[in-house]
Amino acid sequence: MFGAVIHAPGDVRYEKRADPTIIKPTDAVVRTVATCVCGSDLWRYRGIAPVKQPAPIGHEFCGVVEQVGDAVTTVRPGDFVVGGFNPSDNTCGLCRKGATANCLHGDHYDGAQAERIRVPQADGTLLATPGLPADDLVPGILALSDVMCTGWHAALSAGVGPDTSVAVVGDGAVGLSAVLAAVQLGAPVVIAMSRHDDRTALAREFGATHVVAERDEAGSAAVRQLTDGIGADCVLECVGTEGARMQAVGSVRDGGNIGLVGVPHGDLPVNELFWRNVGIKGGTANVRAYLPHLLELVLARRIDPGRVFDLELPLAQVAEAYAAMDERRAIKVLLRP
Ligand SMILES: [Zn+2]
Repeated sequence: MFGAVIHAPGDVRYEKRADPTIIKPTDAVVRTVATCVCGSDLWRYRGIAPVKQPAPIGHEFCGVVEQVGDAVTTVRPGDFVVGGFNPSDNTCGLCRKGATANCLHGDHYDGAQAERIRVPQADGTLLATPGLPADDLVPGILALSDVMCTGWHAALSAGVGPDTSVAVVGDGAVGLSAVLAAVQLGAPVVIAMSRHDDRTALAREFGATHVVAERDEAGSAAVRQLTDGIGADCVLECVGTEGARMQAVGSVRDGGNIGLVGVPHGDLPVNELFWRNVGIKGGTANVRAYLPHLLELVLARRIDPGRVFDLELPLAQVAEAYAAMDERRAIKVLLRP
């Protein structure tokens, strides 16, 4: 089979790889129907994270089960499935608390931007749809494998609810998903911090009530102006850079909460947060815990997180997908084998 391999910063190739097989009885092999490039894949593509040796890449997918190991009971060959970017058994002590991202038996994929994928912990990772979904639902289902669940995680971590004002830092696919999550969780004020017209338009389509284009102190001042002069109850930080993290600190009200889901590249002023009584929570999303509810919303067409994909390419053109996202010609690229 063929799949994407990152060789060096700026160098992703579509090349022949070994066909995945069942290694453990808890594995499944899935034929990819759709996969995509993640903002976090760009850390290596841009040389910000190291590429020590050529490595298969990608961790988002949906597809059809081809084989299952002897111990797998919840999915069978022919099922259409979606799985999270962080495999989990869904049965250990942490998974039972909903902390599936930190599963005691967690695992990873050997590159999901590929024609076929070995899925570890198939019972606890994969969720099957009832029958084959309509083709136009595939982008929305694919978005659940990472960005939508990550936006949801930001919102839950910050305590978003029906009485909260929310500001979202970051207008990439996760930030836009966080807007959708905050609206879905009933927040009456949802401020998207964005200065790109296409992303702003999608944020509004997802239900953002306000857009703030300014950054730094001017951005925080604009958020305060929209929130009775005090700052947002909940700030969802969906980038991870030092600048974005400080934007979140500057935009949250005293006593509010920041939900952090951007992969951290920079510290937080913990002492300031203490004196301001600001809560910090976040990390990688508990995808498997959120999947059942969010899949139901997608299949019922109540949300369409697949709108974050604004470019679709054949998987063979994966190198162009990385270039398009790196150069911000695309928010997020969907790839089909
Ligand atoms: Zn577990």
